[in-house]
Amino acid sequence: FLSFTSKCRQRNNSCRNVRTTAMKLAWGTHISTIVSRLIHLNVSVGKDVRHFFVRTQALYMRPLDCSLRKLDSRLFVLRGKPEDVFPKLFNKWKVTKLTYEYDTEPYSLSRDQTVTALAKEHGVEVIYSVSHTLYDIDRIIEENNGKAPLTFIRMQAIVKTLGPPKRPIPAPTMENMKDVKTPCSENHEKNYAIPTMEEVGQDTAALEEEKFPGGEQEALRRLDEHMKRTGWVCNFEKPHTSPNSLSPSTTVLSPYVTFGCLSARTFWWRLTDVYQGKKHSAPPVSLHGQLLWREFYYTASVGIPNFSKMEGNPVCTQVDWDTNAEYLAAWREARTGFPFIDAIMTQLRQEGWIHHLARHAVACFLTRGDLWINWEEGQKVFEELLLDGDWALNAGNWQWLSASAFFHQFFRVYSPVAFGKKTDKNGDYIKKYLPLLKKFPAQYIYEPWKAPRSIQQAAGCIVGKDYPHPIVQHEVISKNNIQRMKLAYAKRSTDAAESPSKKQGVKRKSTSVIDMMKKKKDRKK
Ligand code: FAD
Repeated sequence: FLSFTSKCRQRNNSCRNVRTTAMKLAWGTHISTIVSRLIHLNVSVGKDVRHFFVRTQALYMRPLDCSLRKLDSRLFVLRGKPEDVFPKLFNKWKVTKLTYEYDTEPYSLSRDQTVTALAKEHGVEVIYSVSHTLYDIDRIIEENNGKAPLTFIRMQAIVKTLGPPKRPIPAPTMENMKDVKTPCSENHEKNYAIPTMEEVGQDTAALEEEKFPGGEQEALRRLDEHMKRTGWVCNFEKPHTSPNSLSPSTTVLSPYVTFGCLSARTFWWRLTDVYQGKKHSAPPVSLHGQLLWREFYYTASVGIPNFSKMEGNPVCTQVDWDTNAEYLAAWREARTGFPFIDAIMTQLRQEGWIHHLARHAVACFLTRGDLWINWEEGQKVFEELLLDGDWALNAGNWQWLSASAFFHQFFRVYSPVAFGKKTDKNGDYIKKYLPLLKKFPAQYIYEPWKAPRSIQQAAGCIVGKDYPHPIVQHEVISKNNIQRMKLAYAKRSTDAAESPSKKQGVKRKSTSVIDMMKKKKDRKK
């Protein structure tokens, strides 16, 4: 038997998201006979990916290997393209069954289709399981007449008809593995070792301590810790959490869910247990609601063609975004001159996680709010730097924040000054991530350029020399941008009027592996 996980795309010279089917197969949602794991690692790392790569190892591979050892198995990491590696393995290991977790990302669908076809050619039985999401996404789309629901309310109505998500299945035990042997050679470390930083040409000298250590054990520990806070869980309302608290005001379970260290279903049912018999908040703002947002974007990503792009994406407003490499670099490198924005981007670069509303602030600033840069550029930066980088959630949320899809109140723009003040008047968050500004009095910490020269001198930071001037005048540019957005929306209405099919929603075009396999079977008949 062979179970595989393989999720790694090459894009813009950066590797990302070696996500985790394996973890889920192993820990909770599906039991399969797990002998080995195969990860297709085709890494071409840029400088900024270095910390991502370390985290990938920490979050995913090492703890998985440890857990598999407890089941008398090991993690086998193979280098190469799946279409080259698999056929060799099928023969070499005399594989009879191949199991994997269904993955809805277009890259994965096509990869899994290729591997499935190869397996069939080699007489290998293929078994897959839907478990990365709460529901089978194809079922949601089917229930909504072949279209992805475009509003949360519609999504809620659909999942209501499907009933509660499936409960997770307990993790495999030694008993489950009793008839299974993993032939582990003495050369295991040489042939199948977890890739090291050195292997991908990266320097390990400057590595920082992990703020969010990886693995299932840590995920469950974090989950337990939060679930013990029953009052907090029951009263959780996302809009009332803070983007700039010094320690996270939400669960930070996203990296674990993304990497499959924590099953979304386990998370869901633990919440249900906590809610039992108590008054509690409800979707969309509750923690159950957050998991449904995840489901919402996954469904959209499957049902909407070209989901991670503006062009060719039928629900995405077509906007005449500017190309401005200088602005983009300033945003990305925390040099916009707006301390709140720069502090968030610094936290992102240093820790790989930022609060949802902090993501709102920087995403709005980059796109419709201030810099008028295409959300796809922000998506790329997030994909590279976020520990929880997830293709569907990243694309969906960027479309929301740029008011390109799902959210249309483009006239509501976040202020890079006032927004942060609401929850952190003193600017302690800014002081933490931009220590250069720490001596500024609270009055000027969000707008240091307004401080008299004497105060800047006393703070040891001269704006324009030690810290940049703001790259745009927010009050002016944001008003201008609202007008530009108005035009884009007006054009959208005209286009929709000319093309009624667009108005009615989007027919599902992408084919799932399940559909493809069914079609193939039918052809054979
Ligand atoms: P909690 O509030 O504790 O929520 C619990 C879980 O619900 C999260 O772990 C996550 O799995 C899910 N969830 C919460 N909010 C959302 C949401 N808005 N959309 C979908 N699922 C949600 N999240 C990612 O996991 N990966 C991404 O690549 C990603 N990119 C984003 C890009 C932008 C521009 C924005 C605005 C948001 C993005 N999000 C992304 C969504 C959200 O910000 C994070 O899921 C959340 O902040 C993670 O922190 P948490 O685990 O403490 O969330």
